[in-house]
Order: sequence, then structure tokens, then C-alpha cells
Amino acid sequence: MIAVREGWELDVMRSAGRKLAEVVERVREVLAVGMTTKEIDQVTEAAILAVGARPAFKGYKPGKVPYPASICISVNEQVVHGVPGKRRIREGDLVSLDFGLVYGGYYADTAFTVLIPPGDPLDQALLDGTRDALFLGIAQARSGKRVGDIGSAVESYVTPLGFGVVTDMVGHGIGRRLHEEPSVPNYGKRNTGPPLVPGMVIAIEPMITRGGGAIKTLADHWTVVTSDGSRSAHFEHTVAITPRGPEILTTLDPVPLPQPTIR
Ligand code: MG
Repeated sequence: MIAVREGWELDVMRSAGRKLAEVVERVREVLAVGMTTKEIDQVTEAAILAVGARPAFKGYKPGKVPYPASICISVNEQVVHGVPGKRRIREGDLVSLDFGLVYGGYYADTAFTVLIPPGDPLDQALLDGTRDALFLGIAQARSGKRVGDIGSAVESYVTPLGFGVVTDMVGHGIGRRLHEEPSVPNYGKRNTGPPLVPGMVIAIEPMITRGGGAIKTLADHWTVVTSDGSRSAHFEHTVAITPRGPEILTTLDPVPLPQPTIR
């Protein structure tokens, strides 16, 4: 069942989203070459606790093995769910950071990718294309549209750029649980899928590669990598569908309507 949030619930989710955006800013400030991914996890967890929230990912257990950290850090050919550890961030790395917290009983989820200078221009193009695809998807998150309009916007933008869409992982409804109905794929046909109505809150999260869209999961039960070893990028926002259009909850920017940065 797809939840439709009441006004007070959206207010709590706005607070959760804003707190997560503050966490993201804190981590952006400290992120540097030479840091281990474990150190980034420690900064993230401290920042989540400092805003009065709880890490959403730590202990999350959809399968056999609970997720052991407060952030997912996926480097280069890793797509999502990279587990923090001893790996150090190096020049040229394409680093995807996925953040989640719970506040007042409601979840917020956001991700971004950064290219550590000096980066490969093709990695930069992948990063820019994935971020732009997210904002094109968000622009479809309107009452009267359907879930397939979001996936279609993402897919039809990145495919002509020569990039691959990861289809085995999808965005999702979000609220009292991290993952709720509906699934929000990064592919699809316009005017198909569940209708979008005011009060729905969804996490839109294109996962895009420089190669094919096939993925596999490593022996740690979590880290998802591209099957062909190609590099991957990931951007995500938690977005509320409102009568005035899409409202990005996981941002410090008060402007509710996203502006695509397409060049
Ligand atoms: Mg998500």
C-alpha cells in the first residue's frame, strides 16, 4: 500500500530531511584525500547524533547480515552499499556517499557522488549526467504524473549519453520505514505505474554507469559493483509530492522546485 502523508507527518519529514542535509554538509566539509572510509563513517555517525537523529542504515537487516555502518561509501566500480573500512580515498576516485537517518519516527535518505581531483573527464560527465537525471526525475514528481514518468525521464536522458542504467536497484517510497511502496525504477514508460498524488514521499535515486547496467553483490553481502567493472555514480533525494509540485526534503535550499543543470 502506498502511504499518503498528512500535513504534520510532512512537517516531521521536512525536519528529518533538513537534518540529513546538515549531516551531508558536515561530511562534505571534512572529506579529503587520504581519509579512510571508516573515518568518514565516524564523522557521519557523529553528525547524525549531533542533529538529534539516529542512523537509518546501521543494523538495517533486509537479508542475512545487518548493515554495519552509518553511511554507504561506494568507490569507482562500486554502485551502492559499499561498507566503510580501511580503504583510503585517493585522487581520481569516484566516491558515492549514501546517507540515511530517522527522526521523530520518520526516515530521510539522500546520496551524492563526488570526483576527487584530478578526475577523469568521463567520470565527471557521468557524475553530471547522473545528477541531472535525478533533477529531471524530480521534475516529474507531480500530482497527475505516474511513477513511470520518473523512470522514463531518467532513462531517456542518460541512455543517449552512452551510460548504463542499473535496473536491479530502484528508488522507493519512504516514511515510517526506510523502504516503502512504491518502487521507483530508473527506467520505464511514460504514463505507466502508480499515480503520484499529494502527500506521497519517495526517494528518487538514479544509479548510472559508464558501461552496462548489470550488477553483482560482493561476498560481504552488501557491496554492489558493476558486473563489467565500469565506474558508477549515484544521486538521491527524498521528495514530497505537494499540490505546488515536487518538494525536495533533503536539502538546505528552500527553493521547492528543482532547476536542472543541463548543459
Ligand atoms: Mg534510497
